[in-house]
Amino acid sequence: MDLFEHQAKELFAEYGVPVPTGKVAHTPQEARAAAEELFAAGASKVVVKAQVKTGGRGKAGGVKLADTADEAEALADQILGMDIKGHMVHKVLVEEGSAIAQEYYFSFLLDRANRTFLSICSAEGGMEIEEVAATKPEAVAKVPVSALEGVDRAKALEIARAGKLPPEAQEGAATLIERLWAVFVDEDATLVEVNPMILTTDGQVKALDGKVTLDDNAAFRQPEHEALEDKATTDPLEARAKAKDLNYVKLDGTVGVIGNGAGLVMSTLDVVAYAGEQFGGQKPANFLDIGGGASADVMANGLEIVLSDPDVKAVFVNVFGGITACDAVANGIVSAYKLLAERGESVDRPLVVRLDGNNAELGRKILSDAALPGVEQVETMDDAARRAAELAAAGA
Ligand code: GDP
Ligand code: MN
Repeated sequence: MDLFEHQAKELFAEYGVPVPTGKVAHTPQEARAAAEELFAAGASKVVVKAQVKTGGRGKAGGVKLADTADEAEALADQILGMDIKGHMVHKVLVEEGSAIAQEYYFSFLLDRANRTFLSICSAEGGMEIEEVAATKPEAVAKVPVSALEGVDRAKALEIARAGKLPPEAQEGAATLIERLWAVFVDEDATLVEVNPMILTTDGQVKALDGKVTLDDNAAFRQPEHEALEDKATTDPLEARAKAKDLNYVKLDGTVGVIGNGAGLVMSTLDVVAYAGEQFGGQKPANFLDIGGGASADVMANGLEIVLSDPDVKAVFVNVFGGITACDAVANGIVSAYKLLAERGESVDRPLVVRLDGNNAELGRKILSDAALPGVEQVETMDDAARRAAELAAAGA
């Protein structure tokens, strides 16, 4: 889960990472009130920042400085409702303006390729770090961090120096880096990025921006993280699927997809999109991995979620039997139909099923014998995808 900048900064503040004072506003009036407060407390400028989970807000006009509360209100009016790279701005962060002497880059991340943690530090911050890394690789330091040793003061200083931060910023940066490491570890983050980390004209080092990605796999031991979820922009179907422990992502096509195993489902999406080109551009309507078990309950929940999407005109169930054999999955589908009928949500759209792998023969026989209305079996993945796309086109 990615956090908004204001959430990242609230976390930072809890760990003693210096951040500018600020407040979230949902309306221009709230922004005005927040700005008035900041001016009254001695700010000479305020900055109004779009809160969207994407970078490059500055370039897109989503970060603006104001000299008065009037101006802050007008800027908030302009920024709220803006579309930044497909993200609608619903709230802004109003912050005391910082007098910036220099902008640096800093991050901790999980380096999956090298099976370690990594810190990235550069004296060239503010802009996109990928660009700096491409044009001036010597300006970007990548220092691995051992999970066992972590980051103490000495390591933090080593990172700041490797990033070629000037001497006057090194101590302050090291403090930030040590505390950001605590955020990274204690919050189970996979990314903590500060771009820019700034040196102010009066010599302080602060986090001016914040991007945090929390590891969803650690949610079970981070109960407070649930409150950070952005319920307003979560797709309602995705929220329902999550409540049922299903791995579901809504897409914008017409062919519902259910499969076992993330890799199989991913390739199913490709095959459906490809086959769909012949049928007026039918596309997958979702990603849904029912995992290894694929019990009747899970299948019923999966079908229910997929069929709740009115855009779905046909469903493709693509199963490769492994430890859970095809006969178990076939029985799951048969029971799922019963379960759904009992819940009053009988399946009203065609279902194309492809069973292959362990006990495929037996699985196919169970399904044929059950003769469920609207269920067709197709032997290969390509043919099944084509048939599902065809049915979706006919139903659209
Ligand atoms: P991003 O574009 O989404 O990464 O948003 P940032 O929060 O990083 O802001 C973009 C840029 O706006 C920064 O690199 C700064 O140059 C500038 N900026 C942001 N806040 C302030 C501020 O308080 N004072 C000044 N002078 N510039 C700021
Ligand atoms: Mn930034």
